[in-house]
Amino acid sequence: MAQTRLMQDLERQGISRRDFLAFCASMATLLGLPKAAAGAIAKAIETDKRPILVWLEFQDCAGNTESFLRSGHPTVAELLLDTLSLNYHETLMVAAGDQAESALEDTVAKHKGEYVAIVEGAIPGDIDSGFCTIGGRSALDIAREVCGSAAATVAVGTCATFGGLPAAHPNPTRALSVADAVPGVKNLINMSACPANAENIAALIVYYLTIKRWPPLDQYRRPLFAYGESIHDGCERRAHFDSGQFVEAWGDEAHRHGYCLYQMGCKGPATSQNCPNVQWNGHTNWPIGCGHPCIGCAEPNFWDVMTPFYQRLPDVEGIDSSKWLDPVGLGLTGVVAAGAVAHGVGEVMRYRRGHRPPPDDGTRTSGKPREPDASDHEENPK
Ligand code: SF4
Ligand code: SF4
Repeated sequence: MAQTRLMQDLERQGISRRDFLAFCASMATLLGLPKAAAGAIAKAIETDKRPILVWLEFQDCAGNTESFLRSGHPTVAELLLDTLSLNYHETLMVAAGDQAESALEDTVAKHKGEYVAIVEGAIPGDIDSGFCTIGGRSALDIAREVCGSAAATVAVGTCATFGGLPAAHPNPTRALSVADAVPGVKNLINMSACPANAENIAALIVYYLTIKRWPPLDQYRRPLFAYGESIHDGCERRAHFDSGQFVEAWGDEAHRHGYCLYQMGCKGPATSQNCPNVQWNGHTNWPIGCGHPCIGCAEPNFWDVMTPFYQRLPDVEGIDSSKWLDPVGLGLTGVVAAGAVAHGVGEVMRYRRGHRPPPDDGTRTSGKPREPDASDHEENPK
């Protein structure tokens, strides 16, 4: 059988067909698809039909680009970028200046309603503020035109998804998420976290190429395959939480034994992402695995609502937290008691989110849950 262009490219990079199929199988597992789906994934990636993609960067640190390109499988990113027609990406493209901006203008003009826009970074909320301009145009103006003409938009990282650090109090640039900056944007997918996990971005693209529609989403428009379970529920230290075994000081005996980090400020009970399974750096490890609490980076407004990072989930006005915090401090053991603690943590964070939103001008909507709509499952463009 004649080799596809993609396989020829991969073989030149020393990647065998076996490696490629192993990658497709790992994507099927991550997406919760049957193993047999690996063949369909391979076929979809190998197709010569290349979806057009533009990657915009606004108020960001390029951390999501770095995360994607420096993933544990460097070939994964290359493989997927080879599969796509990446018409514009400031950090990666060779062109600069007018030539680069022309590539973006041409794509929007010639492929209206056909391309996918990926957005990294928050967007200053005023057209004429002077914050974050590219080629003399404001980020808000660019985002509205490019995302407004796209078939779909993927916000990667917590800044694009929820405003992130730029939108943290006092939010000097009036930074907005994509959802708030481009109201009504079509087929928006949010891939939160700081940065978004490269494996999850790859899996989203693979799903898109294979199934020809977006995956099911949660209340914040995040794919359920990546954000459907809390860190706490998948955590390798959960048995210690359930047994009332907690680290109480850095380097103490409990820390050395890998006990639960809840008392050290872990926000895992209030955070949803698949970090315990997918991990980081090619499945090498993840924060809790190496002894650091989860700081809740995938959640709305985490710089405001999850801080201080090294303090236990906080007391909240109107809730007598001593009912469930004291037993933890006393080291009470038992699944029933710890289950009540877990429930209490979740309730407190829900309560806190609802009653202490970060200060803003009242226009923010992306940190609020929304009902599913028809665009969740809209077909991809041809
Ligand atoms: S509180 Fe944190 S460390 Fe403890 S079980 Fe939950 S997620 Fe894991
Ligand atoms: S463990 Fe928590 S803070 Fe770390 S990447 Fe995952 S969600 Fe973010």
